[in-house]
Amino acid sequence: MINQCQACQRYAHPPVPMCPSCHSRDVAPVAVSGKATVVSYTVNHMPWVPDLPVPYVFAAVELDEQPGLRLSTEIVNIDPEAVSIGMPVQVVFEQQDEIYLPLFEPHKH
Ligand SMILES: [Zn+2]
Repeated sequence: MINQCQACQRYAHPPVPMCPSCHSRDVAPVAVSGKATVVSYTVNHMPWVPDLPVPYVFAAVELDEQPGLRLSTEIVNIDPEAVSIGMPVQVVFEQQDEIYLPLFEPHKH
C-alpha cells in the first residue's frame, strides 16, 4: 500500500497528510503492483545489526507506478554480487514480530 492523492492520483512516499503536487488532503493508501527497479544499492559487509546476517544488500528502488517514487529496502533471495542498477524486482513481505517489512527480490519475467 502506498499513499495516493485521490484528486490527482499522484503517489507519495513516505506518506504525508497532504498531496505534494496539488495540496489536496484527500490522500489514501492504495495497493500498488509491488514491481520496481533498483536505482541504487550498497552491499553491507559489516554486522551493524546483530540479527541481520551479512552480507546484505541495502537499496533504493523506484516503484513502477510513478517516476521518482522510491523506497529504501533490502534486496533478498539473490547473491549480493549479482545485484545491479536497473534490475527489475518485486516485493516480498517478511514478518518481524507484529510488522511486515517490504523487501524486494529479483523479478522473474
Ligand atoms: Zn494531488
